[in-house]
Amino acid sequence: MTTEYYPHLFTSLDLGFTTLKNRILMGSMHTGLEEERGGFKKLAAFYRERVKGGVGLIVTGGIAPNFRGRLAPLGCQLSFSWQGRKHKNLTEVIHREGGKICLQILHSGRYAYHPFSVAPSSVKAIINPFKPKEMSKRLIHSTIRDFATTAALAKACGYDGVEIMGSEGYLINQFICRRSNRRNDDWGGDFANRIRFPLEIVSAVRKKVGEDFIIIFRLSMLDLVEQGSTWNETVLLAKELEKRGVTLLNTGIGWHESRIPTIATSVPRAAFSWVTARMKKEVNIPLITTNRINTPEVAEKILAEGEADMVSMARPFLADPYFASKAASGRAAEINTCIGCNQACLDHVFRNKRASCLVNPQACYETELVFTPATNPKKLAVVGGGVAGMAFACYSAERGHDVTLFEGAAELGGQFNLARNVPGKEEFHETMRYFTNLLNYFEVNVQTGTHQSRDTLINNNYDEIILATGVVPRIPEIDGINHEKVATYPEILAKQVTAGKKVAVIGAGGIGYDVSEFLAEEPPSHTLHPDLWLKEWGIDTTISHPGGVEGVKPKKPVPARKIYLLQRKTGKFGKSLQPTTGWIHRITLRKRKVETIGGVTYKKIDDLGLHIEIDGEERLLEVDTVVICTGQLSQQELYDDLKTAGQTVHLIGGAKHAAELDAKRAIRDAAELAVKI
Ligand code: NAP
Ligand code: SF4
Repeated sequence: MTTEYYPHLFTSLDLGFTTLKNRILMGSMHTGLEEERGGFKKLAAFYRERVKGGVGLIVTGGIAPNFRGRLAPLGCQLSFSWQGRKHKNLTEVIHREGGKICLQILHSGRYAYHPFSVAPSSVKAIINPFKPKEMSKRLIHSTIRDFATTAALAKACGYDGVEIMGSEGYLINQFICRRSNRRNDDWGGDFANRIRFPLEIVSAVRKKVGEDFIIIFRLSMLDLVEQGSTWNETVLLAKELEKRGVTLLNTGIGWHESRIPTIATSVPRAAFSWVTARMKKEVNIPLITTNRINTPEVAEKILAEGEADMVSMARPFLADPYFASKAASGRAAEINTCIGCNQACLDHVFRNKRASCLVNPQACYETELVFTPATNPKKLAVVGGGVAGMAFACYSAERGHDVTLFEGAAELGGQFNLARNVPGKEEFHETMRYFTNLLNYFEVNVQTGTHQSRDTLINNNYDEIILATGVVPRIPEIDGINHEKVATYPEILAKQVTAGKKVAVIGAGGIGYDVSEFLAEEPPSHTLHPDLWLKEWGIDTTISHPGGVEGVKPKKPVPARKIYLLQRKTGKFGKSLQPTTGWIHRITLRKRKVETIGGVTYKKIDDLGLHIEIDGEERLLEVDTVVICTGQLSQQELYDDLKTAGQTVHLIGGAKHAAELDAKRAIRDAAELAVKI
């Protein structure tokens, strides 16, 4: 099938024994439903939506081929036919909708989060407290057989193929690289021995499943760790994999223990497609590229320029199940774009919670959070046009309610408008575009620049009033807080106040970090300039250094100003940041020479600067500007008045609960209320 929109993306791909309807792969993504009681039914509903949305091929989250290979003790495994029943139901649902699905086989090796982990050598990963046991030769042989058994079971369960996970630093990758393979038998030492494990797995799998079954091999093309593979080694392995019968080669970028970001929002879009492009010159089987591809334009460009044959996107399908069909029908502007925040997907998986999506709370809740038509359509007023208010207005209008959205400022967006000015958070623009289009689509009556009072709301006879009035910055009690050199974070991020050359940032939560990055980065934002970004992170684009990083000196960014980031507590900085991205923010500030000072008592602010005390000693920070990032307070003045007047009123987002508020909770609040009204 081809369309006039994105013609390369919507060209079918003939694999000989089967044809994929387009070039879009929904990449492997663990959702947490795999292990939930009754989770496979919900997983089937989750994938079914994506098949209905036109995706060409789906790869499941990683399924272990044996007990030791599980990521967690209760992780999903497919080794016995009785474990296949739920998989069979899943593939039936997918095939009924006309979709195709592969099962990913993942042995986590030394990344397994349990004491039974095994690896080529007993070398602990820096990101895991468990030290693995060295695999005996017997265990290596049985593990190869286990991969083949899982593949055969996958075929019996109706899967269209398997993806063998050979990247991201999991077991297969651990065999390939010297970093984790210290053996000197047939399975270690020189490169030919180190790649014996993946090659024998592929041969064993192909032998078991026959010719008419997809085998994708996810090959680590750029390890981004020291003692990783060289480019010549990776090419050699790719050619051998092709000979052994791999159908498609997928691109893996970076081990999980790498200290270089590969998928966070600050990574430029398609920052690594050049790696796949280079491999295109070496093998004849189709290649899949990946990482931070989140719009059809970017995907189309990659394919049109011949960098890859297929494009893998995982998180974009959490954000919008209908990504493909919207793109194919020329409605790309209606796509809910993944902003790369990781907040509701990877961060959840990391915390053993079910994955979802910050911008789409229905993801993985397809059977639970359903916007059915309202049986009793109501006249609703939504006060506050930040993301909570916008999302609620869209969801409730979708259900058929008559909705008016009021915003006091000239434009919608609230705190999101501030966040999108932070370098590396440019993707937040897409969420504003999405909700603004949706408000139009559902014909929500949007009124900006208007302040609602108790009386105007009551006089207009709304059935229910939703207060999404957000937050105001919390102003700490410090002597001199009204000094002219003091600014709040909204004033700085909205560019109403320009900071001087020396700045003290009070409060080191998420916003303190954002503000420090905003003030420290000399434009242009590296996220919008991949060359600058790759240099800053020390990535060798010639891949002549092992792992693409060994011995490469990162280019030091020039900070725009001197910044002190302060907190009262004495512990580690950035503790409240998210698990999968906090380290990136910490490194980014370190690179920009931001000085962090903890255990601070704020004494006063005057013409000289900010006076602080640490361990009983006074210190003066001679700064031109002091930025207040000390959290927020809810704005809910109207609530009591309206309640007392007998109105039905609801609070959502920051207005409901300011502490630790984030956009994820704001949008989920909105969705959860919208299904009930
Ligand atoms: P926050 O995380 O609560 O941090 C504010 C910090 O200010 C506190 O950690 C506290 O640290 C300090 N503080 C609080 N009251 C103070 C007072 N009276 N005097 C002096 N210092 C005080 O709030 P935030 O940074 O505004 O972030 C709000 C929410 O936005 C976060 O919870 C997060 O979910 C979200 N967010 C996240 C990110 C991200 O992860 N990248 C970015 C932006 C926003 P001490 O007491 O130690 O000084
Ligand atoms: Fe993308 Fe963030 Fe949603 Fe994850 S939570 S899918 S990163 S938008």
